[in-house]
Amino acid sequence: MSATIIDGKAYAAALRIRIAAGVADFAEATGRRPGLAVVLVGEDPASSVYVRSKGKATEAAGMIGIEHRLPADTSQADLLALVAALNTDATIDGILVQLPLPEPIDEAAVIQAIDPDKDVDGFHPVNAGRLATGLPGFVPCTPLGCLMLLKDTLGDLAGRDAVVIGRSNIVGKPMAALLTQASCTVTVAHSRSRDLPGIVGRADIVVAAVGRAKMVKGDWLKPGATVIDVGINRTEAGLVGDVDFDAALAVAGAITPVPGGVGPMTIAVLLRNTLVSAARRDGHPLDAASL
Ligand code: NAD
Repeated sequence: MSATIIDGKAYAAALRIRIAAGVADFAEATGRRPGLAVVLVGEDPASSVYVRSKGKATEAAGMIGIEHRLPADTSQADLLALVAALNTDATIDGILVQLPLPEPIDEAAVIQAIDPDKDVDGFHPVNAGRLATGLPGFVPCTPLGCLMLLKDTLGDLAGRDAVVIGRSNIVGKPMAALLTQASCTVTVAHSRSRDLPGIVGRADIVVAAVGRAKMVKGDWLKPGATVIDVGINRTEAGLVGDVDFDAALAVAGAITPVPGGVGPMTIAVLLRNTLVSAARRDGHPLDAASL
């Protein structure tokens, strides 16, 4: 038996086509295009690549992409002033400050300065609270993308046992909240968990978001489990996930590859969140669930 490969690249491409159609409708109805501002402080090479690809994807979807590239020695006050200006700029629907920020800037202070209703990354504590309490808000892009892939693969998730490995604010915690909302029975495992193989072995759904190459072994998995591998690890052999993909193939029912699984979903969901923001701000009807 060999697992089905979950093709995140294809799912994301189709999602981007639906978003572009939604953007065209929005532009026709309102006379403007949704705007996403991406702020990059410093010249971290990986962040620079992410920011460039976000910009290209924004334009390709028919939105306006604005890049603010600031020097690494930008003061926190100057960065907060830029965020404040973007908060009141009517042409901007989404604000994304690329993390990590260079020292000594206080990341939490910057995230909290973003208007929660333009926080398309979903990192503001107000949006984390909305997610936890089931209110509409913005959900972080990577876990929302994982949920879309899970629903596409499995249909209704209710009653399934799910394990999320990792408890970060940007992946693990919101992923656990989304799976709880989808009526899964959710276990969150982390660096202090005991008997990770035993915990993983009980799960119908495994989401691995740790950042350790091939940490989850094939023989940990319950036969037929659906595995979502969020990890991106650079090794001598190239990019690999947190799951030992080759070994997992023989046991899992379905699995995302790295690359080509979760990665392409993140930017597609960012575009989705930006369109949703623009529609909310202008009172434009949009069926977000159909995106
Ligand atoms: P993080 O470092 O903030 O969190 C890692 C989590 O893993 C922590 O909660 C920690 O408790 C847990 N952990 C560490 N060692 C562990 C162990 N031995 N056993 C169990 N749990 C352990 O990382 P993050 O930002 O959540 O990202 C996780 C991974 O996902 C990274 O590889 C990152 O590059 C990747 N990522 C990918 C995307 C994407 O678009 N595909 C987006 C975000 C993050």
